[in-house]
Amino acid sequence: MEDDNINDLKEEIVNAGRDLFNKGVLENNEGNISLRIPKKDELLITPTGNNYQTCSADQVVHMKFDGTAISTGKLPSTEVKLHIAIYKSRPKAKCIIHTHSTYASMLSILRKEIPIIMEEQVVYLGGTINVSSYGEAHTDEISKSALIALSYKNGALLANHGVIVCGKSIQNAVKNAELVEKLAKVYWGALQVGNPHILDKISLEKFQNMFKRLFSNCPRSMLKDL
Ligand SMILES: [Zn+2]
Repeated sequence: MEDDNINDLKEEIVNAGRDLFNKGVLENNEGNISLRIPKKDELLITPTGNNYQTCSADQVVHMKFDGTAISTGKLPSTEVKLHIAIYKSRPKAKCIIHTHSTYASMLSILRKEIPIIMEEQVVYLGGTINVSSYGEAHTDEISKSALIALSYKNGALLANHGVIVCGKSIQNAVKNAELVEKLAKVYWGALQVGNPHILDKISLEKFQNMFKRLFSNCPRSMLKDL
């Protein structure tokens, strides 16, 4: 039996998954959510082929960062390596969410980054949302390209695939997953009508400072040039 704290964290994953499913950001059998176990090289992650409507805490998989399972039962998401790579390089990241949300996936296929079009994008995500170079799913390659695309930020598009976001809490990561999809939708819509106006970075210092202070989870050394 897992202890109560672990079960509470599993419940948080289940609730976040249902929430994002209900909002259309996650679909059944697609995407995944993980949480770092505090002070341990371990994580909890949604199972492979997850049904977000019926998923229960006992289906969430408990693993070590070396890839061995601690829980019995369901197999972990096939993208667990990607999550572990991000946790290892970002000790402050507590939650990671990967989606195939529609508008963000469209932009990932166009290999079109999302430039800074709204202030909240800077506050929560850190700025322009980059597109990674292509990495085949379930490989080390996608982990490396995702980390490069993330750089110091909290979200990136994965080329011809979808979205990766991270956060200092599960609430932050859920917000970031929703926000990337909203920004992708707004940007895509604006592109249909004309040339979107991109915000000037110089005028965004206040928001960049809020990002650094409140929401960034990358190593501090990555923020020194901001
Ligand atoms: Zn995927």
